[in-house]
Amino acid sequence: MTRRILIIEDTPTIARVQKHIAQKVGYEADIAGSLAEAKKLVEEHSYFCSVVDFILPDAPKGEAIPFTIASDIPTIVMTGNLDETTRNIVEKHPIIDYITKENKQAYQYLEKQLARLPRNEQVQVLVVDDSAATRHHICNLLTRHKYQTIEAVDGVDALKVLAENPKISVIITDNEMPNMNGDELCVEIRRLYSNDEKAIIGISALDTLHLSTRFLKSGADDYLRKPFNNEEFYCRLSQNVDMLENIKTIRLQANTDYLTKLPNRRYFFGEANSHLKAAKLAENSVSLAMIDIDHFKSINDNYGHDAGDEVLKGLSQCMAKYFKNNLVGRFGGEEFAVYFADQDRHESLQRLEKFRLFVEKHSPEFSKDRIKFTLSIGFHNGPIYSLDELIKQADLKLYQAKESGRNKLIS
Ligand code: GH3
Ligand code: MG
Ligand code: MG
Ligand code: MG
Repeated sequence: MTRRILIIEDTPTIARVQKHIAQKVGYEADIAGSLAEAKKLVEEHSYFCSVVDFILPDAPKGEAIPFTIASDIPTIVMTGNLDETTRNIVEKHPIIDYITKENKQAYQYLEKQLARLPRNEQVQVLVVDDSAATRHHICNLLTRHKYQTIEAVDGVDALKVLAENPKISVIITDNEMPNMNGDELCVEIRRLYSNDEKAIIGISALDTLHLSTRFLKSGADDYLRKPFNNEEFYCRLSQNVDMLENIKTIRLQANTDYLTKLPNRRYFFGEANSHLKAAKLAENSVSLAMIDIDHFKSINDNYGHDAGDEVLKGLSQCMAKYFKNNLVGRFGGEEFAVYFADQDRHESLQRLEKFRLFVEKHSPEFSKDRIKFTLSIGFHNGPIYSLDELIKQADLKLYQAKESGRNKLIS
């Protein structure tokens, strides 16, 4: 979905830079050179957000700001300089942020803010406070930056809400609450979820140094004292959300094969092993298939290594789709594995045979050179709960498939 942004700016060069930045982070951008033009555009389109110049020919005292706000368009204000009067006017309005154009980092900062807004739509924040007024205030601040909000009235309620909403990634909690205090809640949350999964920001009106340390030692990532300044609130919040995202990215990279984007061997082993433990308890049979491209070396030799890579990527995409309900991994080279959790032996074999036939017929579609290739597959099913043993058995069958002429599934 493309999001539309309204840029209200009378200096064409600045407007162009802003438009370029907005497009770079995925927006479709319209420029209005005056408040009057902006009003016309707002009648025609609906906008995800806006960047508003403080001084415009027909709006010299920031009059464009109440207009975008009244039109329910989240607003970032750009100002030439931020003197006392300007700041007072700007701060009266519930804007997302203001940026001074003189600042060297202004446009980098704008890009960061514009990139964060669509991201924030995916972030669920739990607000825990026994005061409805405070909850309401914090939720308002959050929705202004497009975060999703969920509320809880105390620690006990918060734990229940967290269990029901596993997607919540940030918890903002008051300290002084009935039933369970904020720092006690932090301890409970940390028993269940690590700092890599969920960030906690503690808030309290009590002005004691001990409280901030108590919050942090109980597992909170950050602390704010009431009444807090909105800018500080947003800065701390986005830093925590950024941190969670970075961890997620690093983890994904560590678990993903760089070429094919399939789970790598390390991730496959971790996931399969934890499933095998459960399967062992339930005494269920498990299945695993080893899949290997036939004569792949000759593809490299005949078409070059890049073409070989293309084949691997195409096959992997197809495999991810075909086995989307199973665990797939690239073990290295042109060798892949599929682990079938809770799936009937017959059903798994059928799926694999269908896949083998599909590749036999459609492999030329995977590459520009229309390279035709086939697969050999070894499959094993049984009450085997050691992954090494399971792989060994499937490998034996794969070897048989190769020895007996390739392009076949042996179970
Ligand atoms: P078989 O039918 O017996 O499986 O023969 P094969 O040629 O497919 O198997 P072999 O193990 O002899 O060769 C695998 C080749 O895969 C050798 C290696 O250079 C190549 N290879 C391994 N990783 C990559 C990769 O990431 N990209 C490309 N293009 N080639 C790779
Ligand atoms: Mg201007
Ligand atoms: Mg091979
Ligand atoms: Mg091989």
